[in-house]
Amino acid sequence: MTELDTSEYADVWVFVEVHDDVMPVSWELLAEAKTLTAKTGDDLVALVIGEDVDGIAEEALARGADRVLVADDPVFEPYRADPYGAQFRAMVEARKPSIVLIGGTHTGRDFAGRVAVPTHAGLTADVTEIDVDDEGILQARRPAFGGDILATIVCEDHRPQMATIRPGVFEAADPNYACETTLEGSIERVEVVVDEADCISEVLERVVDATADITEAERIVAVGAGIEGDLEPALELAEALDAELAATRAVVDEGWVDGARQVGQTGKTVRPDLYVAVGISGAIQHVEGMNKSETVIAINDDPNAPIFDHADYGIVGDLFDVCPQLTELVQER
Ligand code: FAD
Repeated sequence: MTELDTSEYADVWVFVEVHDDVMPVSWELLAEAKTLTAKTGDDLVALVIGEDVDGIAEEALARGADRVLVADDPVFEPYRADPYGAQFRAMVEARKPSIVLIGGTHTGRDFAGRVAVPTHAGLTADVTEIDVDDEGILQARRPAFGGDILATIVCEDHRPQMATIRPGVFEAADPNYACETTLEGSIERVEVVVDEADCISEVLERVVDATADITEAERIVAVGAGIEGDLEPALELAEALDAELAATRAVVDEGWVDGARQVGQTGKTVRPDLYVAVGISGAIQHVEGMNKSETVIAINDDPNAPIFDHADYGIVGDLFDVCPQLTELVQER
């Protein structure tokens, strides 16, 4: 393969993922990407693909994009990997972005490879931290070796530098960012290069997952193996607090709680206002998914449990005594 002239590539692109509403990770990426363009001097470009997405393009501008590229066509609704992948790839090849960031959602993971493989870009998956060095090279960090180390992955010779980013690890861009600055961005409608005849997939049915999305919860009661299969005390506490239930992998592996509620390295990243850890030891792989919570309360009968190192308030005691007492206190308020 001939050597690539990386100087032809510029700007940081963020994919804005739309399914009825915008996926929150898109605005998280927009905010974090702003810290990259502040260093490189590149434009921050939001990419909106979908049908009737003008309002979303406007919102991307309001949240701080310098430019918005819009591919608007019925072929993009509902989502399918083949038209999204083909459109995105065509835009990348024509416009040569330096960095492309995509949310590590089902959709992002589904089509990112369709862009990375044909453009020989390489793709760092499930990234939890991003930065750029003095040469504008993306430093994509992600847990490796079971979460024991944080690996920094760089892509020196190829462009674009692509990464899927884990939802929930960054704060979302302010919806009034542009009003509070002098930013005046632009929206450009791009040519749609795919039509229905190019698509080999067809959506036959759409089934909405009724499981609550714990990444959006303001309050979480999370259970660990200490509950020994008895969810009742934690569920009552969750109800009193109007909180979502979450769990460690040990609990999910036992089948006590659905996998969609697992927090941690191989589960979800959450950042609620309140995280109550019930009978959780505090293994690094779990902590990684909850250590951005505003306030953490840990309940554990082992005073040396590592979870206490990550807690604002710790209660040493048997969860089967402590949870009902806490529930009662909350109900009395
Ligand atoms: P334990 O470690 O068994 O802890 C149970 C705790 O409950 C103990 O501290 C104990 O003192 C306390 N306890 C027991 N009885 C009571 C009681 N009656 N009252 C009060 N306290 C009590 N884990 C995740 O959670 N999420 C992940 O995404 C994840 N990904 C992983 C990825 C890899 C590659 C690997 C290797 C591991 C991963 N793990 C993950 C597993 C992780 O290493 C731990 O094994 C797991 O988090 C432990 O779960 P736990 O705290 O529920 O159980």
